[in-house]
Amino acid sequence: MTTLRDLPSVEELLQTKTAAELIARFGRPLTLTAIRETLDKIRARFSSGAITVLPLHDLILAQTDTLLSAWLKPTLRLVINATGVILHTNLGRAPLSDAAIRAMDLASRGYSTLEYDLEKGTRGSRLIHAESVLQKLTGAESAMVVNNNASAVLLVLSALANKRRVIISRSQLVEIGGGFRIPDVMKQSGAKLIEVGTTNKVHLRDYEEALQDGGSLVMRAHPSNFKIIGFTEEPELKDVVEVAHKAGVFVIDDLGSGALFDTAKYGLAHEPTVQESLAAGADVVCFSGDKLLGGPQAGIIIGRKDLIEKIKKHPLARAVRADKACLAGVTATLLHYLKDEAEREIPILKMMSFTPKQIKGRVESWIRELGRGEAVEGESTVGGGSLPGESFPTFLLSLTVESPDRFLKRLRAQNPPVIARTANDKILLDPRTVLPEQEGALLVGLKNVFEEI
Ligand SMILES: *Cc1c(COP(=O)(O)O)cnc(C)c1O
Repeated sequence: MTTLRDLPSVEELLQTKTAAELIARFGRPLTLTAIRETLDKIRARFSSGAITVLPLHDLILAQTDTLLSAWLKPTLRLVINATGVILHTNLGRAPLSDAAIRAMDLASRGYSTLEYDLEKGTRGSRLIHAESVLQKLTGAESAMVVNNNASAVLLVLSALANKRRVIISRSQLVEIGGGFRIPDVMKQSGAKLIEVGTTNKVHLRDYEEALQDGGSLVMRAHPSNFKIIGFTEEPELKDVVEVAHKAGVFVIDDLGSGALFDTAKYGLAHEPTVQESLAAGADVVCFSGDKLLGGPQAGIIIGRKDLIEKIKKHPLARAVRADKACLAGVTATLLHYLKDEAEREIPILKMMSFTPKQIKGRVESWIRELGRGEAVEGESTVGGGSLPGESFPTFLLSLTVESPDRFLKRLRAQNPPVIARTANDKILLDPRTVLPEQEGALLVGLKNVFEEI
């Protein structure tokens, strides 16, 4: 009769050639842990009666191999975004330009001048790297880059608004997503909120009255991810700045997306630009690196020199500082704008600039390649909490399949996984967000799924 005594020991298994191969691939400590775990599982299944025959060496080690492969499988994987949402936050927002990728690679590979002054041979500042490009691009006196825009807002308010009365319009007390709420961040920084106006209407005199009552700072937050339509009113930033400055008070502008170009060029609504915010007189402006800018995750703060100096010196600045790869990537991305080559080099701008006709051509070539599907009109969106309700006309590959949900699941199981959507029982894929170098893999993935089903 088979008993657990017949199960090979760890030592016995380690003598085999297969175990040696596993050790070469995965290292000794991890392989040992996996062998023990595999044996434990077999013992448990045998004791419970789930199995009556004990596996032999080869089968045990095959199970160990499966376990090790599962443990080491990366959870952060490259995917093909066929959703047509350009800044898909769940899919990592902006894909980067070649130059930004190269710069991040270079900065990560060796030592660098991150905080080193080559001229003097002494310690330098990590904040200088993006600063001169930002000054040239925007005309701002000073600039700094931090980990992301959420931390930029927290840092700016902590440095400038702690224990002070900060005036903000009720229409701007927004939640950006993931629980990031402007009023909570303001409170976290130690600011005292002075809310003015109503949800839909704010007048200049609301600001004036609050300033007379002793406001010490004005904050504007761009309501990036929603739109109030109908009976609304909001004074222009330049008028708010004028009354604030008259009262001797600074204005902080959280732009959110912070476009450096006019989105109207692509047939979208006009998103407030960084340049406009400075031109309107905002004293400190902050925005994201990985939204409409098209760079890596970062928060960019620009504005008056004396205020930026104060922000740089705040203890939180160290806690939210950007790492070397981020600084290299942001700087390389900004250089595209400075050299007027952004639309040619930055992937998300390329995606925005595709005409429906160009996209239709891509859908038609996919249909030829697949031998099925049809080109239908649809809409792509910007996403990433930018330009809510705005979309571009596009063309979609529409596929008729038996079970759309099962088909989507199979697409996600491809390598690389393909993320698509369904509407009215059709599978829809938008070429706008599929990178040209991923097209081949996308078509292979689709063909596989049709064969599997
Ligand atoms: C997106 C957004 C933020 C947060 O920016 P992250 O870079 O995602 O941290 C803050 N404020 C506004 C208005 C935003 O739209």
